[in-house]
Amino acid sequence: MSKALIIVDVQNDFCEGGSLAVAGGNQVARDIATYLANHGAEYDVVIATRDWHDPDSDNTGHISSEPDFVGTWPSHCIGGTPGADFHPELWPSGERYPHDEVRKGQGAPAYSGFEGINAAGESLRSLLDDANVTEVDVVGLAFDYCVKATAIDAARTGYRTRVLRDLTAAIHQDGVADAAMRSANVTITESQTRD
Ligand SMILES: [Zn+2]
Repeated sequence: MSKALIIVDVQNDFCEGGSLAVAGGNQVARDIATYLANHGAEYDVVIATRDWHDPDSDNTGHISSEPDFVGTWPSHCIGGTPGADFHPELWPSGERYPHDEVRKGQGAPAYSGFEGINAAGESLRSLLDDANVTEVDVVGLAFDYCVKATAIDAARTGYRTRVLRDLTAAIHQDGVADAAMRSANVTITESQTRD
């Protein structure tokens, strides 16, 4: 039995100043860094995801020149550009985080980290299973899109899954994402009351 922290898409384009900024994204990056400094050792593995769109791809419908901000989005997280970089304050100094990284969206409209692969082509599920992970905590951006999709996939795969809401920020504050996650057996809690 081991425990993983999955840090979803804390990238410049999803934080204030980026092309698809989520209000509160910069603060989420700082708060996750503080959380990692204080609690990172409680996790056997820390895995980050990044949205990563190929510049020479049509991205199959998720990026649009006329985005509706529900299912289509302005250009964001183009691989190799500063917008796709991790937020500069995300990782605590002196720590070797993340232990691994999966990238998603490469030519596909992926929201879930479980649709991504690491540099060696391994899926998030295989990375977690190789580490004997049974529990995952999910944090990052955005609460109602990629955090939600990643958490629901984690719960459906069989991991005990929690979202630490104070280490996330949402695009739409309508409660729809909360209901979808809860009905998939995801626990929504706070970083200070994880049990
Ligand atoms: Zn994307």
